[in-house]
Amino acid sequence: MGRSFVVFLGAITVGGLAAQPPPGTNLEVLQLRPNFYMIAGAGGNVGFQVGMDGVVVVDSGSASSADAVVAAIKKVTAQPIRYLINTSADPDHVGGNAKIAKAGQTLFTGNGGAGLATNFLGGGASILSVEQVLTRMSGPSGKPSPYPVNAWPTESFNQPRKYMYLNGEGIEVLHQPAAHTDGDAIVFFRRSDVVVAGDVFDTRRFPVIDVAKGGGINGEIAALQKLVDTAIPSVPIVSREEGTLVVPGHGRICDQLDVVDYRDMVTIIRDRVRDLMKQGLTLEQIKAASPARGYTRRYGSDTGSWTTNDFIEAIYRSMNEKAQ
Ligand SMILES: [Zn+2]
Repeated sequence: MGRSFVVFLGAITVGGLAAQPPPGTNLEVLQLRPNFYMIAGAGGNVGFQVGMDGVVVVDSGSASSADAVVAAIKKVTAQPIRYLINTSADPDHVGGNAKIAKAGQTLFTGNGGAGLATNFLGGGASILSVEQVLTRMSGPSGKPSPYPVNAWPTESFNQPRKYMYLNGEGIEVLHQPAAHTDGDAIVFFRRSDVVVAGDVFDTRRFPVIDVAKGGGINGEIAALQKLVDTAIPSVPIVSREEGTLVVPGHGRICDQLDVVDYRDMVTIIRDRVRDLMKQGLTLEQIKAASPARGYTRRYGSDTGSWTTNDFIEAIYRSMNEKAQ
């Protein structure tokens, strides 16, 4: 693809012209729709919807960027932040939770809203996630929690779809049960026609499949298929740069055809690994057979936190678990 969208209508740089801005303060704010924005440069991509009901934010970015993210949102609107929705429990997506929630104000002003007391957690914005995110952030019982309580989701759910209607549009939060992890959600703003995908879709590299946290290759492909099914491209008039916008967990704004390409890439590599497994090859032999060939220049890496071999191993291990 490589089409560039005309989305730079509202580019704002937070942090000014300081020669060496501290990490996370050099953010880019893109206006994708009249009432929908994306912030890049804060760890994972952050999306936010604005309107008369307040601000609904998807993901909070890294802890080190939280103040800058709050400042960027306040530069766009004076409305209070009402909701923060997390797409996973990864630190680059929930690291700013406590500060962003604290900067906001709950919609629930009386007892009974979501079962919470008026001043629960100081009355900050509500944090919504699938149940696994809360479990992971609060820690197993008896062990210290990896995050303070004011960073935890205040509302969690375990059904496939949670919905809200705020700022004049339906918002669907769709649980993807075994993709990047077991706690992923994609968030669809139906009137804005924007899907925030989280880390099931990472345009910089092969998708990170965290098998230890319940991720799996087949669930990953199912999540990508869900994105494809949710988004609509500009047909029949393909010359228009229109259609549903997909905000990946990391990387540039995409459309449905970008997700189709990415899904096909992941599926082809999964099928190659599966064929090699059927032939009885070991994991090391499969890695040596380069099942990701043709895609490594664009998505692969030999170094860093998520190498091509890590991806191949995750496919192998998650399919092995399925077989047992
Ligand atoms: Zn991420």
